[in-house]
Amino acid sequence: MNRLYLWLAAGGAALGGLVLAGNELRKRLLHSNSAKKHGISNEPVEPDDVARFNSLLAWAGPTLSWVASLDSRAYVSSGFRNEAVNTLVGGSSSSRHRRGLGMDISIGVGHNPGAYQALANEMRQSPLGGEAGRMLRTVIAEHDHLHFDWNDPLGKLESVPRETRWLKETQPKKYASL
Ligand SMILES: [Zn+2]
Repeated sequence: MNRLYLWLAAGGAALGGLVLAGNELRKRLLHSNSAKKHGISNEPVEPDDVARFNSLLAWAGPTLSWVASLDSRAYVSSGFRNEAVNTLVGGSSSSRHRRGLGMDISIGVGHNPGAYQALANEMRQSPLGGEAGRMLRTVIAEHDHLHFDWNDPLGKLESVPRETRWLKETQPKKYASL
């Protein structure tokens, strides 16, 4: 049994070689520099957001382990944004991050679209299993991270039931600082 399987068996996930599980993963998914700076909470408030975020929490660990098995530098760079934080950073109201169904993973190489596209191509060859894989809706190789979003476990938002969409971003996007 190798280290990855030990992580998975323990319900953990990799963060720069460290085990990241339970509450630590939750903290990463809720972290927002802007919220901290402005002294506002980024906890999910609405019941639907809470339910979806709990699903994200269950899917984030296996997803991070999947990416980390291909690149050990992988870490969660962004997750949930509640309404207050989304407004603060000028995020789209339709963003899956806003609904608790989006997560970004970075490998800390700055703007490097080639590196993220190459990683995404490797990921396509060894698909994510389990519920996280079945519910995975979109993977986008952005210029400085991989974006993941999932179908709505509550069945209220638009879903893509067929298979995961792998999109290549063609234009650099400008992101508000999270
Ligand atoms: Zn994203």
